[in-house]
Amino acid sequence: MTTRCWAAPSADSKLAPFSIQRRAPGPTDVAMDVLFCGVCHSDLHQARGEWGRSSFPMVPGHEVIGRVTQVGAQVTKVKPGDLVGVGCMVDSCRTCAQCEAHHEMFCEAGPAWTYNGTELDRKTPTYGGYSTHLVVTERFVVTVPRGLDPARAAPLLCAGITTYSPLRQWGVEAGQQVGVVGLGGLGHLAVKLARAMGAEVTMLSTSPSKKADAQRLGASDFALTTERSTFKTHAGRFDVLLDTVSAGHDVDSLLRLLKPFGALALVGMPPKAMEVKAASLVGGNKRFAGSSIGGMKETQAMLDFCAAKGVLADVEVIPAQAINEAYERMLKNDVRYRFVIDAKTV
Ligand code: NAP
Ligand code: ZN
Ligand code: ZN
Repeated sequence: MTTRCWAAPSADSKLAPFSIQRRAPGPTDVAMDVLFCGVCHSDLHQARGEWGRSSFPMVPGHEVIGRVTQVGAQVTKVKPGDLVGVGCMVDSCRTCAQCEAHHEMFCEAGPAWTYNGTELDRKTPTYGGYSTHLVVTERFVVTVPRGLDPARAAPLLCAGITTYSPLRQWGVEAGQQVGVVGLGGLGHLAVKLARAMGAEVTMLSTSPSKKADAQRLGASDFALTTERSTFKTHAGRFDVLLDTVSAGHDVDSLLRLLKPFGALALVGMPPKAMEVKAASLVGGNKRFAGSSIGGMKETQAMLDFCAAKGVLADVEVIPAQAINEAYERMLKNDVRYRFVIDAKTV
């Protein structure tokens, strides 16, 4: 199927209209019309080659909400007309220990990423959601609970699961103190999700102009990481810190804000290494952890949790033609709080 999309031709050129072929759906495939696709900072990192493993032309986009148009004969999960979601992966081996444990992102053979990767044949390039149609095998499609606004649900497919999963891993619950670092796409959902889990949330930001928004999103406190006093006032306060910052920053100082046995979970992926002193971890038995998206089972659980708690992204819906400008605004920390492409404009 000929599919219109927007692609980065190379790491140093702007995204532009492009055309690709999607496969005809096989027996386990779900074909969909893309309705909305969120714009993740990972799209920008990869389209500009910042992580050093980019292949071009690249069609980014891994926060997809689509309407099913056709299903293969063996598909049982969804039917034409259903609203579905696709996140960062479109396939994995399904048989290794990680796949069996529902951690497909750590598939021992390597998952098929939604874009900037290949199908499991390791040859056919994958192209993401800045496009009009998508064909994905059933296991990597999630069902969107009734009543969720599709544009506002799209960012849940990456930003939502990436923040939900570490909050669950680190046992966030009512009464705990959670600090969210960086108020962008991931950060704003982290605030809403941690609040929905019952925690008291503090926003740690570099942008004074985001204070009122942080409170509206559910944070009961706000502190600037650009002010030294923050690291004294809030020292030893947090059970869990969720760090969503996209650029290099002082993680070592953030560790001071944890209680003994507290955990700083890093989900942001700055391209360069960041320094941590041994003493910052050893004193207080602190944990410095990472977290990568989440498996398909947990992604479905996250969507169901969001539906039950009324958690959705705050979005600015844009036409595909505005994608280059959206990237520039993201770099200026000027996103409130997720750009979402309306696929009708692709
Ligand atoms: P985003 O919307 O651009 O938000 C990033 C926020 O980080 C900014 O709004 C800003 O918040 C803060 N920030 C930016 N530059 C900073 C600096 N130099 N110092 C301190 N703070 C800074 O990005 P996003 O889409 O949420 O993604 C965030 C990061 O997560 C990216 O690196 C992305 O690749 C990564 N990511 C990882 C996973 C995973 O599986 N682990 C999944 C998705 C995304 P303030 O204005 O509040 O300071
Ligand atoms: Zn993402
Ligand atoms: Zn596997």
